[in-house]
Amino acid sequence: MVGCRASLDCVLPGIWRVDLRAPLALFGVPLVVRVNLYVLESAEGLYLVDCGPFAAFSHVRALLARAFPSRRLRRVYLTHSHFDHGGAGLRCVNDGVEVWAASGERSMASAGGPTGVPQAFRYPPFVPTNWIVDGDRVPLRESCLTAIVTPGHTPGSLALYDEASGVLLCGDLLLGPLRGYAVTLLLAVLTALRQPGEEVRRHIESLSCVRRQLEGRRNVLVLPGHGAPYHLKDRPGAFARSERLLRLALMLKRPFLPFGSGRAC
Ligand SMILES: [Zn+2]
Repeated sequence: MVGCRASLDCVLPGIWRVDLRAPLALFGVPLVVRVNLYVLESAEGLYLVDCGPFAAFSHVRALLARAFPSRRLRRVYLTHSHFDHGGAGLRCVNDGVEVWAASGERSMASAGGPTGVPQAFRYPPFVPTNWIVDGDRVPLRESCLTAIVTPGHTPGSLALYDEASGVLLCGDLLLGPLRGYAVTLLLAVLTALRQPGEEVRRHIESLSCVRRQLEGRRNVLVLPGHGAPYHLKDRPGAFARSERLLRLALMLKRPFLPFGSGRAC
């Protein structure tokens, strides 16, 4: 994909962050969407958490082939099926890669993204090959992740948590930063503005639920869908900030916002 850039950094032994920047033309305005994918090392090969936009996937595949020449991509775990996180699902399925998602994502993925949104937020439809449920375990080489289904941002949003090391891969459960990520933060807020209020309230409940699960832990490393990884002790207000933004969206809801009735990012 022309204009696509990606870098790879080791976050922890067996976990790498792909910082992916992909061009997005919205109403003729050239923008850049910046999203994190995470590469996880397992005994059978590589797993990816999210696969990025459809058009950027050949770039991601080439990056993985260069960085891990002897390891095959075996599975993708989708934190959710918005275009920037799961848009390349069909490419993965066609490559023979297992695509795992929570069942709540079935209808959005098989519809090629939300309906009533600009074409830029849609992608070729696909059906995930495997379904993950709350509490399922994902064994990695150095650790083991537990699935936490966190509905709200989408019906089947998913977080993955390693209780032993305190690593939380949370997709868009926590809203991303403003600096360097204005496009995706704006899209996340627009998503909340467009959603039925009950879905935004469910997102707030998911925040509370995950926050409760982390209570008592001194050092949680958050690996977000957008923005640099951070330790929760360095941003103790991260959950409260996301909740505030969602509550603001609930207050500001208007029926005449752009983008029809769908959700974007
Ligand atoms: Zn996102």
